[in-house]
Amino acid sequence: MNKQQMAPGPVELSDAVRQAMAQQLYNPDLDPDYVVFYRGMCEKIQQLLHTQSDCLVLSGEGILGLEAACASLIEPGTKVLCLANGVFGAGFVDFVKAYGGEPVIIEKDYRQAITADEVEVALRQNPDIKVATLVHCDTPSGLLNPLAEIGPVLKQHGVISIVDAVASIAGDRVLADEWGLDIVLGGSQKALSAPPGLTFMSISAAAWEFMEARREPPKGLYLNLLTWKDSWLKDGSFPYTQPVNDHYALDAALDAALAEGGGLYERHRQVAEFTRDAVQAAGFKLYPDANYAASTVTAIEVPAGVPDAEFRQRLLTQYGWQIAGSYGPLAGKVWRIGHMGTQCQKERVQACLEAIQACLADFR
Ligand SMILES: *Cc1c(COP(=O)(O)O)cnc(C)c1O
Repeated sequence: MNKQQMAPGPVELSDAVRQAMAQQLYNPDLDPDYVVFYRGMCEKIQQLLHTQSDCLVLSGEGILGLEAACASLIEPGTKVLCLANGVFGAGFVDFVKAYGGEPVIIEKDYRQAITADEVEVALRQNPDIKVATLVHCDTPSGLLNPLAEIGPVLKQHGVISIVDAVASIAGDRVLADEWGLDIVLGGSQKALSAPPGLTFMSISAAAWEFMEARREPPKGLYLNLLTWKDSWLKDGSFPYTQPVNDHYALDAALDAALAEGGGLYERHRQVAEFTRDAVQAAGFKLYPDANYAASTVTAIEVPAGVPDAEFRQRLLTQYGWQIAGSYGPLAGKVWRIGHMGTQCQKERVQACLEAIQACLADFR
């Protein structure tokens, strides 16, 4: 059976992205055209994130970017504010601890966004906080935190922000400079709809200064962003062999996203609204507070009495639709429909929902 993917990443690839990936390669270390290509790709990321900051693409999926930002900024004793109202938000606490940081955690129900006021209070109570970790779209719960409001509060207090925008970029707008964000992290396989395997990021001048002012420089090479400052940003050389064909795919995906302009965000907004209305009309309960629902993914509660894993298995094998369950405390309780990038189409959501309802009837 032809399988249709509707999980919130990795998402289906467009023909253009697949063809771009199949091109013959340049030698990334020997061919000067590759330097021009890589620079152009980073400029497209600057446009997408609305930033003048340096942008990089690293070889490894989204988690590599999250860990590299923490490894580069946090040293023993660094006090870090962690906004933990979701699986990824809470997950940052482990990275902070792994690098010796001292987390100050704002915990909140995974259905609720963290507000700028709550961040302001935490920073007043802990004036020695230097870094903050936060998530824009916390994918496992489909929740979108109000970055536009939180970012400026962090900036006013001189706190360096590490923002996981992996699941929002190219679906919900990210204005890195206007919102005062220092490190904004993305992944290739979410709304941009390129294959998994790359993480990209913007790094502000303040973030570079903070890394360089550490008591001890970051250890290691792969997770140390200063490695890139001392190679690529200094003289256009790469610290290791680049995954050229993955880059071709990401570059084509960036072209597609930028060509759509503001329509990209309007499409995601409309399809997300359509999905929320349709699932509720079908009797499902939305998981997050609808006021803070992401435009890239809709999370709904698993109906009482329906076995999560068995249901999704049957939906895939008998009906050909793949949706996602969830993680951590939400495992078994939440289903997720990923209407991001190539999968952000009303008809597709509609067809998926019809399959879900038909499959549900088999369990009743
Ligand atoms: C997908 C995702 C990541 C990266 O995780 P992967 O292992 O690449 O799937 C990080 N943060 C968020 C919020 C994500 O949705």
